[in-house]
Amino acid sequence: MKILVINAGSSSLKYQLLDPDTKEVLAKGLCERIGIDGHLKHTPTGKDVFDADVDLPDHEVAIQEVLNILQHNHYGVIQSMDEIDAVGHRVVHGGEEFTHSVVIDRKVMKGIKECIPLAPLHNPANLVGIEACQDVMPGKPMVAVFDTAFHQTMPPKAFIYAVPYRWYTENKVRRYGFHGTSHQYVSQRAAEMLGRPIEELRIVTCHLGNGASTCSVKFGQSVDTSMGFTPQDGLPMGTRSGAIDAAITEYIADQRGYSGKRVENVLNKESGVLGISGVSSDFRDLEAAAAEGNERAQLAIDNFCYKVTKRIGSSAAAMGGVDAVVFTAGVGENSATLRAKIMEGLEFLGLKLDPEKNDVRGKERIISTDDSPNAILLVPTNEELMIALDTARLVREAELNGAL
Ligand code: AMP
Repeated sequence: MKILVINAGSSSLKYQLLDPDTKEVLAKGLCERIGIDGHLKHTPTGKDVFDADVDLPDHEVAIQEVLNILQHNHYGVIQSMDEIDAVGHRVVHGGEEFTHSVVIDRKVMKGIKECIPLAPLHNPANLVGIEACQDVMPGKPMVAVFDTAFHQTMPPKAFIYAVPYRWYTENKVRRYGFHGTSHQYVSQRAAEMLGRPIEELRIVTCHLGNGASTCSVKFGQSVDTSMGFTPQDGLPMGTRSGAIDAAITEYIADQRGYSGKRVENVLNKESGVLGISGVSSDFRDLEAAAAEGNERAQLAIDNFCYKVTKRIGSSAAAMGGVDAVVFTAGVGENSATLRAKIMEGLEFLGLKLDPEKNDVRGKERIISTDDSPNAILLVPTNEELMIALDTARLVREAELNGAL
């Protein structure tokens, strides 16, 4: 089976063609600057990379170009579009309606549209990606995989904010959580690596990349997570502030004469480790600057690690204990220094990091000591594989039920 995974943004489109059964990636790539001018980087496995400007006036043309290059006689990996069995789309917000991945039909499209107020930047771009695929590949089965769906198992006490209840019932204000596909994938892999059923494990997953969130995965289900109504909540990130005292927004608007929109923009794009350090949102730059004695870069790292440490503690408390902590995403997979700093002081939870095993990048590995009561793991995330697996499963089920 071959599944095309699409992650459409407002001016970009990431794709991967993979076989969910063998987990083999046939090709991956990225269309950028859609609607501006256009650039396509296509990486077929075992073949030459295509990397050049290509005219991409809209998403439909971008999808067509992706399909063309997938079938190209030099850069291609398939003979015809018929070899693609189905398309899996990453959709950011599924609100309360979508608790699982679903086969896309008219009702699903309507549901995704209804979630636009909750994700005004992302969901419209995701919809454009789906519509472009429907135009270029009419009749091809398609599945929507939501970033929020995994967290829909959170109990009300975890998802409700302490604001007037009508904000929830009338305005949909609640914790939704994001990175769900990643938290689900790495928790499942962690259970497999430990050789234990996920139904008996309490796992704290730490997705630490440019965006960062933790999740309490109790017996396979998300029971709490650090991102909230938007991805702005929770941990400090590359450029996002994470959770702050809500009163700061009004105060700083008054003090600096900012509009509410400008405050929001600063909290999203000029805060986080970039805001504290003034150096960069990239942890590699921060580590380099801190090593050269830049105190604000060091403070940004310390603040980030401190908050992740505290989050692991509260995530464990949310489950009455913790059997495993999992690190994933750019920082979590690559920085042994940050992982070590985060785990400092968590020995009281029976979590002992092995410095030698921790000296690794981007590979699946158990990085706790052999005598550690609970496990620490490094699991590279693979959202595309998770999307492809869900897509394959749902399309096969629908075919069996005669729904396709
Ligand atoms: P992601 O959003 O998961 O792609 O993660 C991107 C972030 O990972 C970058 O902004 C970097 O801050 C971080 N990162 C990647 N490689 C390293 C590394 N070797 N050491 C520290 N941070 C890294």
